[in-house]
Amino acid sequence: MSAEKGQAAPSVGKLIYREDLTPDLAILRVQPTDESFVPEFKAGQFVTLGLNIDGKMTYRAYSISSPPEERRWFELYIKWATEPVIGKFTTALFHLKIGDSIYWRKPAGVFTMEDKKADGTADDRNLVLVASGTGLAPFVSYALHLKAIGSKRKIAILHGARNAKELGYRELFESMARDNCNLAYLPTVSRPDDLQSLGWQGHTGRVESLLQSIDGSPSALEKILNDKLGTRNSFFHVCGYQGTIDSVVSVLQPLGFVTNRNKRKDGSFDIKIETYG
Ligand SMILES: Cc1cc2nc3c(=O)[nH]c(=O)nc-3n(C[C@H](O)[C@H](O)[C@H](O)COP(=O)(O)OP(=O)(O)OC[C@H]3O[C@@H](n4cnc5c(N)ncnc54)[C@H](O)[C@@H]3O)c2cc1C
Repeated sequence: MSAEKGQAAPSVGKLIYREDLTPDLAILRVQPTDESFVPEFKAGQFVTLGLNIDGKMTYRAYSISSPPEERRWFELYIKWATEPVIGKFTTALFHLKIGDSIYWRKPAGVFTMEDKKADGTADDRNLVLVASGTGLAPFVSYALHLKAIGSKRKIAILHGARNAKELGYRELFESMARDNCNLAYLPTVSRPDDLQSLGWQGHTGRVESLLQSIDGSPSALEKILNDKLGTRNSFFHVCGYQGTIDSVVSVLQPLGFVTNRNKRKDGSFDIKIETYG
């Protein structure tokens, strides 16, 4: 197989695990075929997967949800793209069986955690991680990494999904929140009447609604932070589809937050963004 122009040949791996949360949402693990360790990476980076589809190597980027401390495999949280038309790569991926080959390129990306401010001082603001759908993947890696290194930084994980079944990693975060008073988990579903949300008693609406204060009363996030939201106490990471990112930024901008795409003159920013497409 020839590598893409200017790129090293991809490594060969195999699918070793899949947990289908719904017919079009899965947690997958990919291990190097020779069972060697995966390369070192930082929490928040992505791996590029490759499949031979109709005789042509096709690649797509996927955030790694496992932490850097887990070197046996890459764990990934992937949605089968079905709308408006069937996605090319995910259709092939969702037809793979355990043991099937899958290619991968070494992890890359800059959607990693900021532990210093632009002036070089430690950033100990609350880490607010906002995700829609599979945009949660890098935050799973962040949370497990912070736990592994014994960090005391306060984290709030806000996850929006269409229905309760699509709240991947819910049990993990519920259990982490029970064990660690520095971690808060705020899931919300936008379709509470869906059959797949049966029994759901948590927040409803899109994930940005967790940031909105209505009629001057504190937002869901402010309630758990026990403080008024501001750049002084919170640093945001937002991941997922463009619509979610735009909505979250439009709630935060009037409060003085600026993104890494539009930094202040001194290089500082309070929102880091990763778009999936
Ligand atoms: C840094 C990064 C990290 C990512 N991490 C993740 C992750 O962790 N999990 C995850 O699920 N995804 C992730 N993605 C998205 C992923 O890379 C793919 O884009 C996604 O899986 C869809 O790939 P696909 O080949 O199945 O769809 P594609 O065939 O590439 O189609 C993409 C979208 O366009 C639509 N489309 C295709 N053709 C047409 C057409 N002719 N007209 C109109 N619409 C069309 C499809 O319906 C689909 O919605 C990430 C992307 C980036 C850039």
